[in-house]
Amino acid sequence: MAASNAQNPRTMAARFAPRGLWSLVFLCIGLWCFAPVQPSFAAASGQDSSDFSRSNESQASADSQEGEFQDDMDTMFDAREFAVDTFAWDNWKINSGHFESDKWADTARIALVDSSAGQFYVHPFRNVVTSDFGLRHWLWHKGVDIRLAKGDTVRAAFDGIVRVTKKDRRGYGNVVVIRHPCGLETIYGHLSRVCAACNAKVKAGDVIGLGGSTGRSTGCHLHFEMRYYGEPFDPNCIIDFEAYGLRSDTLVLTRGNFNYLAELRKEQWHTVHKGETLGHIALRYHTSIKNICLLNHLTPRSLLGVGRKLLVSGKLPGPSRSSFAPAQKAVSERS
Ligand SMILES: [Zn+2]
Repeated sequence: MAASNAQNPRTMAARFAPRGLWSLVFLCIGLWCFAPVQPSFAAASGQDSSDFSRSNESQASADSQEGEFQDDMDTMFDAREFAVDTFAWDNWKINSGHFESDKWADTARIALVDSSAGQFYVHPFRNVVTSDFGLRHWLWHKGVDIRLAKGDTVRAAFDGIVRVTKKDRRGYGNVVVIRHPCGLETIYGHLSRVCAACNAKVKAGDVIGLGGSTGRSTGCHLHFEMRYYGEPFDPNCIIDFEAYGLRSDTLVLTRGNFNYLAELRKEQWHTVHKGETLGHIALRYHTSIKNICLLNHLTPRSLLGVGRKLLVSGKLPGPSRSSFAPAQKAVSERS
């Protein structure tokens, strides 16, 4: 045992460290063990970290900042009333954060209406749906289009806090993104005018914009989208667009609501044949030239060599997008 004693790190260190120094080291370790730890996003939200792990230091730092920002928001607004998560809170990006829905095994049950707490649903604009959620032409339409006339008032569907108001020239046009409790967001696109301010609290029914046809739009309509932790889902699962009301007071979401994303992200390869253009290939695979360019580091004017293999669908590179775990409080119904 003498040999092992010589190799024992503690014994070795004791030869060179004064006893007072070791007391200081143990004191520091003790303080570290009992110090209050800034909860990570997952811990703060009660998320079981076994499902989604974010372990590196930069993530811990981001969690810490997120926690502080959440505290600020809770102070600014009544946390009990709103319980709005600040995950990926960004006043500029419409697509800010997402969660790995393909690994999600929980069921989210989110109470959307609570009359005793004064929380209701208001249909954003009462008119017919002109285009539904799903595959449209060659792209997935991630919302529902509601017909309206320029200047018609568009209202917030639920209580929340405005996260983004911006002019997205090539996409949503004048757009408002509202963050609601439990990781839900609603998006209102193609407005002629925005009538809401970033970080402002809105109640269901508040006018947040006027109808229009801005951005990538071929006529006046409202593009209405619902997202859960950054991922769009079909609003028809909870909203009856003919009755202008909710199908149920509680929204139930499972991985099945996001299966279409897995299909969109599946890797598919195409070998270029003589005479083919990016446009031909995009049409064939129900995607866009832009997506193919992003996946293959091309520009729309790149020359395609015959025999070249192109990735035509799969996970788009997204350096600014990070993974976020749905919060546990979204899994259980709000009280
Ligand atoms: Zn649309």
